[in-house]
Amino acid sequence: MSSTVITNIATLVTNDPSLAGESPLGLVRDAAVVIDGDRVVWTGESSRAPATDDRVDAKGRAVVPGFVDSHSHLVFAGDRTEEFNARMSGRAYSAGGIRTTVAATRAATDAELEANLTRYLHEALRQGTTTFETKSGYGLTVEDEARALRIASAHTDEVTYLGAHIVAPEHTEDPAAYVALVTGEMLDACAPYARWIDVFCEKGAFDGDQARAILTAGRARGLHPRVHANQLSYGPGVQLAVELDAASADHCTHLTDADVDALAQGSTVATLLPGAEFSTRAEWPNARRLLDAGATVALSTDCNPGSSFTSSVPFCIALAVRDMGMTPDEALWSATAGGAAALRRDDVGRLAPGARADLVVLDAPSHVHLAYRPGVPLVTQVWRSGARVV
Ligand SMILES: [Zn+2]
Repeated sequence: MSSTVITNIATLVTNDPSLAGESPLGLVRDAAVVIDGDRVVWTGESSRAPATDDRVDAKGRAVVPGFVDSHSHLVFAGDRTEEFNARMSGRAYSAGGIRTTVAATRAATDAELEANLTRYLHEALRQGTTTFETKSGYGLTVEDEARALRIASAHTDEVTYLGAHIVAPEHTEDPAAYVALVTGEMLDACAPYARWIDVFCEKGAFDGDQARAILTAGRARGLHPRVHANQLSYGPGVQLAVELDAASADHCTHLTDADVDALAQGSTVATLLPGAEFSTRAEWPNARRLLDAGATVALSTDCNPGSSFTSSVPFCIALAVRDMGMTPDEALWSATAGGAAALRRDDVGRLAPGARADLVVLDAPSHVHLAYRPGVPLVTQVWRSGARVV
C-alpha cells in the first residue's frame, strides 16, 4: 500500500477531542494529513509532515471529515413533485403521502430500485457524504421490505428495518395485526439484512406501546433500535428511545423539558433533520436548547421523496446555522462526528490516526464557508477509504 500526504491545507477539521479548544472541531492551521492504505496515519502542521510516496497540494483549501448522513430513505420509486408543488403553492393536497411512494415502490422492479438508490448515493457522494444509513419502509409487505433491505445492504453496512413506517394500507382496519406481522414474519425476513430497527412513533403512525413492542422484538433479533420521535407533535418517542438505549432519536422537533433532560442524561443522540422542516414549512427543531442542556446532536438529510428530497448535508448545515441556533462549528461537528455517534461508529466522522481516510476538500479556506456560502458547490474533492472518488 502506498502513502499519500495532502499538504498545504489552510484549515483542517479533525474532530479530535485532544485538539479541541474553543471549537469542538480540533482545528489545525497550515496542516497536512497522511493517508496509508484506507486509514489516516498522521495529522499536524504541514512543515512537520513525514515523508510519503505521493503528495497532493490542497492549495490553501479547507479539509473536513466526510459527512456521515445517519438518516435517509433511499429505496423507493416515483417522486412526489405534485404534492410538494401543491404544498408550497398553498393548495390543499389530499393524495396519499407515504402511501403514494409505497404503491410506486411495490410496482418497481429490483433493478429500478437499485438504479434509483445508486443515483442518489452518487449525488450524495458528490456533495461529500462518505457514510450513509438508509431504511426500508416503502414496501410494507414481507417480500417488499426484505427486498428493500437486501438491495440497500449491497451498498452500505448501515441498513435499517422500518417496516413500522406507517400501518400498511391492507391493515388500516386492524393495526394490531400489522404490528404482529412487523414483529413476526416480516422481522424474520428482514433481520438478516439489517443492523438497525426503527419505528415512526407518532399520532397516525404507531403509539408508544406499539413502538415499544416493535423495538423490543427487533432487539431480541439482534437489531439495535433507533426511533422517528417527536416530529409532528409531543409524544412518547424520545423517552422510549432513551429508555431502550436507542442509538438515535430522530427529528426531536417537539420536546418537553423532560424529553431534553432524558436526551442529555442518556446515550441516545438527538438527530435533527432540517430538510424536513424546510420542505414542509414546519417549525424548526431547537438545536440550541439541546446543546445547552448537554445532549449530543447529529444533523442528517432525511432524504426521501415526500418530506425532505435533499441529499445535501451542506444545505442542512446552512439551515441549522441560520434557523436552529447552531454555530458553524457545531453544525459541522454534528454532520460528521455527531452522525458517527448516531451510528455508534468511531472509525468515521473524524480525521485522526486510525480513522478511515474519508475526507472532503472544500473550495474555500475555511469550513465556515459551508454555512457562509449556502447553495454553492464547495466540495471539490472527496476521498473515501483512502481513494479519491470525486
Ligand atoms: Zn425519516
